[in-house]
Amino acid sequence: MRFDILTIFPNLVLPYFEDSILKRGKDSGDIEFHVHNIRDYSKDKHNKVDDTPYGGGAGMLMTCQPLFDAIRAVKKENKGPVIFMSPQGKRFNQEKANELSKLNEIILLCGRYEGIDQRVRDELVDIEISTGDFVLPGGELPALTIIDAVSRLIPGVLGAEDSAHDDSFSEGMDGMLEHPHYTKPAEFEGLKVPDVLISGDHGKIAEWRKTNRKNPN
Ligand code: SAH
Repeated sequence: MRFDILTIFPNLVLPYFEDSILKRGKDSGDIEFHVHNIRDYSKDKHNKVDDTPYGGGAGMLMTCQPLFDAIRAVKKENKGPVIFMSPQGKRFNQEKANELSKLNEIILLCGRYEGIDQRVRDELVDIEISTGDFVLPGGELPALTIIDAVSRLIPGVLGAEDSAHDDSFSEGMDGMLEHPHYTKPAEFEGLKVPDVLISGDHGKIAEWRKTNRKNPN
């Protein structure tokens, strides 16, 4: 799967692809990342990408020209939907992650300042996604959140040791969240692992896990 990320802060995003699951997925060729600096597309002599809002008010807005040019250039390489990170977008969840993981390509647009000129949203954005009811200074962490959640669902990206099967929110969990986990040792500072988990009785273990699933908040 190919991800193109548009941002004015490529250095915030790039290191995240250099370790752990995303690095492994990149090395195996299951996922690829292309990070584009929106500022590189600015025709302003100082590479300006923001300006004051019409109608007044605090803060700056990202202007049309660099965004139109950057998105149009990236769309030549990536035929997937343009997703704008936005607190006004639809709330991101596992179902959306599943849906996106079936695509071959997506473009993620990270806003900054007070956001972007509405004309970019009207003309070039296909989907708006929020990662929660809070305001961050930029769309970079939301974009990485989506990439992380989507990438781990792509076959080959997760190793067998960290399977996405039976995770919270996954199909077959009946809307419940995952059961508690324990690892060795069986006793740590007097704290014991539930007997059933070391009983070797797989039927009972499965039953215990099922009854110990949590309800979502
Ligand atoms: N003025 C905007 C907030 C701008 S924050 C408002 O009141 O809605 C600057 C940028 O950060 C946004 O354009 C968006 O790209 C990103 N951002 C901030 N919070 C976000 C969230 N919860 N989900 C997704 N993107 C977010």
